[in-house]
Amino acid sequence: MVLSAQDPSSASGRHDAIVIGGGLVGAAIACGLAEQGLDTLLLDEGDVAHRASRGNFGLIWVQSKGLGAPHYQRWSRRSAAEWPALAAALTARTGLDTALEQPGGLHLCLSEEEFAARAARMERMRAEAGNFGFEYRMLSRAEVAEKLPGIGPAVAGASWTPYDGHAGALTLLRALHAAFRDLGGTYRPNAAVAGLDAAPHDFRVTAGGATMRAPRLVLAAGLGNAVLAPMVGLAAPVRPERGQILVTERTQRILPMPTVNVRQTAEGSLLIGESKEDAGFDSTTQIPSVMRDMAKRAVLGMPWIAELNIVRAWSALRVMSADGLPIYDQSERFPGAFTANCHSGVTLAAAHARMLAPMIVAGALAPELLPFSADRFGDVRTAA
Ligand SMILES: Cc1cc2nc3c(=O)[nH]c(=O)nc-3n(C[C@H](O)[C@H](O)[C@H](O)COP(=O)(O)OP(=O)(O)OC[C@H]3O[C@@H](n4cnc5c(N)ncnc54)[C@H](O)[C@@H]3O)c2cc1C
Repeated sequence: MVLSAQDPSSASGRHDAIVIGGGLVGAAIACGLAEQGLDTLLLDEGDVAHRASRGNFGLIWVQSKGLGAPHYQRWSRRSAAEWPALAAALTARTGLDTALEQPGGLHLCLSEEEFAARAARMERMRAEAGNFGFEYRMLSRAEVAEKLPGIGPAVAGASWTPYDGHAGALTLLRALHAAFRDLGGTYRPNAAVAGLDAAPHDFRVTAGGATMRAPRLVLAAGLGNAVLAPMVGLAAPVRPERGQILVTERTQRILPMPTVNVRQTAEGSLLIGESKEDAGFDSTTQIPSVMRDMAKRAVLGMPWIAELNIVRAWSALRVMSADGLPIYDQSERFPGAFTANCHSGVTLAAAHARMLAPMIVAGALAPELLPFSADRFGDVRTAA
């Protein structure tokens, strides 16, 4: 490969770490690395890229995570528990308020069948949690009515856990970037990776017309990781899954806690979502039937929502693995290289900044993250 001009952001072109991908995952990790004192460079492709981080729902959601995979439940819970410290640190450093609220969350069941299936699922999760525990309650219709205003006749009940919450996802992304820069990190937008040379603890990345070098490399490029990971002897088998979101006009503060498909932002809008569609890399929103179904479910749960005007809709592509769990890996061929992918970048932001980043600084993933290796999908490295 022909190396281009030296990195203008560093006299030597060298950094302690390079993170590829400036979405929620990359920004959280980069922030954590900078906090640990590493001279960190964060590269991002720019507006042409698919960016889940700019189109998500903003839930810090734990109660549905990890059926059959209690390590994922533990990781999500630990992240939710770290969130207040992350939010406080971001506000202290940047003045930005991520509007974090963790009052618990509800999953409304719109029939007795849904309620029974949900109850069975939650009980299985409790059983799988073992000593770690899993606090939940199945609430009767009357108990849900005490927590939420104006529920519809279809509501049979709900599951509730104390772990759930929500935050302003765009403010979070902005705050992570601001904190990263304040910590001395270097952010280079419009810098799609054009070349990557790997040797153990020595990575040279060409992007945005310059070449940068570091002994640590973190691939956090969302869907872009599928192409990048094989360059460092890893695999990131992720695919896009489209999600659409409807936004209502602002209204008085009315929802005391989020449900899995309706939440009220700090500004007063209700977000209604979120669909799960296999649409390849198509992120358009011109699917009226999907929007109708999302709105219908929201209105069945809380009929008063029908009085609000929808003012906006968008869609974005989730970064999904085959089993829906995150992928964290470290390269055996090229020590110093790591991958990070997940479909819950808001929920896991605190884990990424405060738990994963220190592991990367130390040079190895902790045992609790080893089950998240892409090796669980078979011999994907060879296939890649
Ligand atoms: C509709 C929807 C609702 C969601 N709701 C929630 C929710 O309620 N709670 C929750 O926790 N999560 C939610 N998510 C998921 C969350 O948004 C994602 O987990 C998270 O945004 C993933 O972040 P990321 O940084 O991995 O990917 P992205 O945001 O896609 O960022 C990847 C970045 O990598 C860059 N990049 C790609 N390739 C290259 C390259 N070759 N060189 C340089 N840069 C590159 C891109 O420019 C991009 O900025 C939702 C997602 C969607 C779509």
